[in-house]
Amino acid sequence: MTSQERSLLRGIFQNRCPSCWDGAVFSGPYRMNETCPHCRYRFAREDGYFLGAMVISYFVGGFSAVPTLIFLIFGAGWEPLLATGVSCLQIALLNLPLFHFARLAWLHMDREVSRLAFERDQRGVTSNDKK
Ligand SMILES: [Zn+2]
Repeated sequence: MTSQERSLLRGIFQNRCPSCWDGAVFSGPYRMNETCPHCRYRFAREDGYFLGAMVISYFVGGFSAVPTLIFLIFGAGWEPLLATGVSCLQIALLNLPLFHFARLAWLHMDREVSRLAFERDQRGVTSNDKK
């Protein structure tokens, strides 16, 4: 994959390794590879690495239910308890797509931040060498 074809969203939605963009991160609905099958990039770098992905999942899942809740209560006139139940069902149905999205988003964001930090450090070393 050329660098022009790479984009953060494409990598996330196509289940691509953030390092080589060829290997798959997930090999099944709830099965994630430990390393990339193509380049051997280790996905979970340490214990608790995916805690940030959990926060993304809670944030997206929670906020996706709010418009449904507001529409059902104020637009359709449903009872708040029933509307809340439907919103909770919506979050439960989004569990699997959100699990994938959150972990892939976390992997790609972490890889991108690491790459930018590495480039910044390289520029810093270069500018220090010139002094
Ligand atoms: Zn890879």
